[in-house]
Amino acid sequence: MADSQSKEASGGVLTGLMSGIVGGGIKVVDLTMTLQPDVPTIVMPPEFGQSWPFRMEEISKYDHRGPFCYWNNLSCGEHTGTHFDAPIHWVSGKDLPENATDTIPVEKFLAHACVVDCSDAAANDPDYLLTIENIEEWEAAHGKIPARSWLLMRTDWSRKADPVAYMNMADDGAHTPGPHEDLIPWLIEERDVIGFGCEAVGTDAGQAQHFNIPYPCHYHMHGNNRFGLPALTNLDALPPQGAILITPPLKIRQGSGSPTRVLALVEQ
Ligand code: MN
Repeated sequence: MADSQSKEASGGVLTGLMSGIVGGGIKVVDLTMTLQPDVPTIVMPPEFGQSWPFRMEEISKYDHRGPFCYWNNLSCGEHTGTHFDAPIHWVSGKDLPENATDTIPVEKFLAHACVVDCSDAAANDPDYLLTIENIEEWEAAHGKIPARSWLLMRTDWSRKADPVAYMNMADDGAHTPGPHEDLIPWLIEERDVIGFGCEAVGTDAGQAQHFNIPYPCHYHMHGNNRFGLPALTNLDALPPQGAILITPPLKIRQGSGSPTRVLALVEQ
């Protein structure tokens, strides 16, 4: 009896979800950059290894190489375009359980999103850092961040169509906005977030290699089995609270991340 009741209840929820998607009550928003040769690729300090850019090579296009089909060979680094950062990506998360793209429990690829609009601040200061105080102000207006949510930093940075402007490299590294080093441990300990997402090429600020702990978002998030979601776009189409993100990376054995088609469900 209890079983059939709970089945009926869950069937009702899914039926309601689908009628919302088909009927327009729930909008599906694409938060993904298009993979193409000039999609931004992170650049590490020159003494470190570098990620391959995205490349696509035609195998055939209904021609002598294959008269029936069009298809391509692809190559890129795991961390190319809009992508998912798994905990195993960082040394702080290397020994954690279920820390790679093939072992993370799949239900973690569905989570609520909180979107903090930093677009004005980032327009005025490319090195803008999101602080605990900023989040407390945001919570006063929009409510507390629920546990197991993504914290998404909207900067409109992804609107920079020129890859040079998007990367914003100088002699001392990139100048792009990101989280303050104090914010990340707070988000984990005080709000139990599932991860941090943003519009820049990485989840850490462009200057984060110079912070007290280099790349603190990677260090703390992945060291606590949380995730990263950089190079998002269209965050301006999301409400401050209430959207649900769908973020499954490719199931690469012991993968540290992968390009990901990130979708948001938004109630109209
Ligand atoms: Mn990455």
